[in-house]
Amino acid sequence: MADYLSGNAKLAEMPLEDGLSASQLLSNGDGLTYDDFIILPGFIDFTADEVDLVSPLTKKLNLKTPLVSSPMDTVTESDMAIAMALCGGIGIIHHNCTPEYQANEVHKVKKYKHGFIRDPVVLSPNHSLRDILNVKDEHGFCGVPITDTGKVGGKLLGIVTSRDIGFLEDSLYESSTKLEAIMTKLENLVTASSGVTLQEANVILEKSKKGKLPIINDKGELVSLMAKTDLKKNRSYPNASKDENKQLLVGAAIGTRQNDQERLKLLAAAGVDVVIIDSSQGNSKYQIDIIKYIKANYPDLQVIAGNVVTNLQAKNLIDAGADGLRVGMGSGSICITQEVMAVGRPQATAVYKVAEYARRFGVPVIADGGIQTIGHIIKGLSLGASTVMMGSLLAGTSEAPGEYFFSDGVRLKKYRGMGSLEAMNRKDAKGSAMDRYFHNEMDKMKVAQGVSGSIIDKGTVLKFLPYLLCGIKHGCQDIGARSVNDLRTMMYKGELRFERRTHSAQQEGNVHGLFSYEKRLY
Ligand code: GDP
Ligand code: 5GP
Repeated sequence: MADYLSGNAKLAEMPLEDGLSASQLLSNGDGLTYDDFIILPGFIDFTADEVDLVSPLTKKLNLKTPLVSSPMDTVTESDMAIAMALCGGIGIIHHNCTPEYQANEVHKVKKYKHGFIRDPVVLSPNHSLRDILNVKDEHGFCGVPITDTGKVGGKLLGIVTSRDIGFLEDSLYESSTKLEAIMTKLENLVTASSGVTLQEANVILEKSKKGKLPIINDKGELVSLMAKTDLKKNRSYPNASKDENKQLLVGAAIGTRQNDQERLKLLAAAGVDVVIIDSSQGNSKYQIDIIKYIKANYPDLQVIAGNVVTNLQAKNLIDAGADGLRVGMGSGSICITQEVMAVGRPQATAVYKVAEYARRFGVPVIADGGIQTIGHIIKGLSLGASTVMMGSLLAGTSEAPGEYFFSDGVRLKKYRGMGSLEAMNRKDAKGSAMDRYFHNEMDKMKVAQGVSGSIIDKGTVLKFLPYLLCGIKHGCQDIGARSVNDLRTMMYKGELRFERRTHSAQQEGNVHGLFSYEKRLY
């Protein structure tokens, strides 16, 4: 019996099995959530920097980073969607607003950062300085090509830029002065011919040291425009999520009503890349019908269906043609669905069960709701989700819609559930369209499934997202996964090992035993 310390050869050869596989962890009938388990560390032979965060959002769309912002009216409009896409993720514009408002938010994201600006604002020589100042007020830029017709496709005659209007002689500084007198004329412009590639145009723009590069065809007609600021932005955000035209990717939420077909039409015209069918219980005839409608009428548009938490729910939506699934019911921070409806599922179990089913059909899954920390993101991804969707984690940032306000000296922003009475009764210029929590037109009484609250000022997401991404990389490194995709493969192979955490283990895993402490995260 002294063997237990001596080098017994047989003992040394026994396999070193520790912890549980995901299937062992999640198949005993208990519903688990992220805090109920922990991942065991693996072997590190690479740096955190090397970890690859590329992961699919849908069958056809890959993201460079696995982060999605939730379609909530206190989380995602164009500012958030732009920031998410710049950092390699994607934002989904909410639909608690008129279709026109939503489509315009999509349009702002698509126009934000261009390779070629294909529909630039153009004026004619007969327009006046006042018109340029109006463009600046309305759009924020004043680099305007001048053509004979005042439109794209007209003969290029010149351009007006901030330099042309910044140093005007007093005699010309009249709002009625015609642009003809102000513009830099064609003979002094550097232009490129249509057919030029994005890389070639970039080189010309850089060499020219000008701010704008008009692109013209062989008849001298304006085809498009390039802006130097976009070149610079390109360098600051090398991982930005972009389409083939180098425009940022953006998603939008829609409902399942008849009038959502009209909304869809506007969103598609604005260039939306993916739509999410927004429902707290996605397994419905209405959702199946609209998935089929989208697939028949917009075959190139990617569709994410949901929300679901069981594989039977997932089956119906996958069979109808969904390109991705959104998983979560009742796990959101502002959510009272489980309390009010007695329906839902703890999030870790929901993610694992749905992802395990959906992968058989190549359908990626978004873990939606309940993400409070980087650890929760890693746990969602380690259970089979390809991306995570966040509401509260991104609310309170400067890119989230809404104004800051002070309460007891603390700077706050509003954050509310889309099923809260406040969101459902929204009455302002943006309009209201929340039917996520209504299953039919006959619902007269609104039963809230969410609450309304506030979140402390978190500053800009452009600093917060890099912190999240760096944390995810370190988490993957500790686990021994070189990429987010490897993390999933390791889990399905049973190489990723998990352990249940008791209540006291959870307490041990948090800061404890201190009189006071400061928690600064980055
Ligand atoms: P400007 O010098 O005042 O024209 O502004 P910048 O060139 O610094 O910034 C213009 C930004 O707006 C760039 O990111 C453009 O891609 C974007 N943009 C979007 N649509 C248009 C457009 O129609 N004309 C111009 N000039 N810029 C546009
Ligand atoms: P969070 O990241 O704040 O934990 O959760 C955000 C998610 O909660 C959203 O993406 C959405 O799925 C869900 N959600 C948003 N509003 C409501 C609501 O009013 N009720 C419920 N049940 N879920 C909500």
